[in-house]
Amino acid sequence: MEKKLKEYAKLLVEVGVNIQKGQTLLLFAPVDQAPFARMCADVAYENGCREVVMMWSDDHMTRAKYLFADDAVFDEFPQFRADLYTHYAKEGAAFLHLICDDPENLLGVDSGRILRSHKASGEKLKEYRRFQDQNVFPWGIGALSGPKWAKKVFPGLCEEDAVKALWDKIFMACRVKGDGTAVEAWKQHAKNLREHVRILNEYHFEKLHYENALGTDLWVELADTHVWEAGGDRTAQGQDYMPNIPTEECFTANKKTGINGVVCAALPLCRDGNVIENIRFTMKDGKIIKAEATKGEDVLKAAISVDEGASYFGEVALVPYDSPISNSKTLYYETLFDENAACHFAFGKAYASNVEGGANMTKEELLQAGINDSITHVDFMVGTADLKVTGYTHDGREIPVFIDGNFAF
Ligand code: ZN
Ligand code: ZN
Repeated sequence: MEKKLKEYAKLLVEVGVNIQKGQTLLLFAPVDQAPFARMCADVAYENGCREVVMMWSDDHMTRAKYLFADDAVFDEFPQFRADLYTHYAKEGAAFLHLICDDPENLLGVDSGRILRSHKASGEKLKEYRRFQDQNVFPWGIGALSGPKWAKKVFPGLCEEDAVKALWDKIFMACRVKGDGTAVEAWKQHAKNLREHVRILNEYHFEKLHYENALGTDLWVELADTHVWEAGGDRTAQGQDYMPNIPTEECFTANKKTGINGVVCAALPLCRDGNVIENIRFTMKDGKIIKAEATKGEDVLKAAISVDEGASYFGEVALVPYDSPISNSKTLYYETLFDENAACHFAFGKAYASNVEGGANMTKEELLQAGINDSITHVDFMVGTADLKVTGYTHDGREIPVFIDGNFAF
């Protein structure tokens, strides 16, 4: 176990954010995950990190704030906090987020407060997000097993066994065996992902058609200058990093106004402590004109109303149904894992890097490129074992992209 944890910490710090000599690391972690955070800090210093700046969080404190803090607090995001993010982003520090959220932490909390809080932070963090879009700094996320999350994933196990079972799933998905091969395994995996990206970029599809037995029948126009990406990113300074470990997706940007039809989610969506089940969106000219769910419909409707862009899509991602996370047949209630189990879309903001030259475009130029903007970005999974995706090229060719849930090439 100790060996695997160390190898995982090494993977997140050396491959995830790929810490460089003299670079600052902003490390975000829940307080009860301090031992693992310390491991990450040690790895960072071993690699010559300038300083590890610790950013602690706590589920209990977050919940207590939403329940009991003064109501005015939820429309504020202190300038000094925004300045802190901007300061470190500007100097090119690495941002590593260790997460272990209780999926039900915010259950029963006033969703209006959550919405206002997202809006307030979204406004104040715009400059920081801009730097993120421009790839000024490397960032990454790593998930850690903890009692509340593990019990949600494995309700039938006792707490100790659940935590262990979830660690096993995390290690499996992250290809961590404890024998020191994880870093190499990730390099090979990234290479495979990039091969699919190469093919997708060569076709440069005008639109994709999604169909399955669940009821999805959706036409998705891609942005004219869209670029498929996968397996990692590179900062403007040329530092390679891999924001999501695990990652199984090839993703790009749709044309904001180019989505029509019906799309049904294949997995529940966990949002602000609530589980939203059986999402069904009806889309017209890119906009969600009808949002339905058999459970959590009000939470879903709130999530797509954060701002104008929240009711349009911003990401199109292809994930083989036959991937390690999908094959584990486990619902993780955590986007980092669940999004890698299935093909997905996101409503909200598109990634600037998903259009040619996007990283250096202004907000106006990105809108001109036809992609969506919003303060939110929420993935929801649509991939099934029978998903069929057909690509249509600008010169009228019809190419099978996905057959029975997996890549056709
Ligand atoms: Zn994605
Ligand atoms: Zn996404």
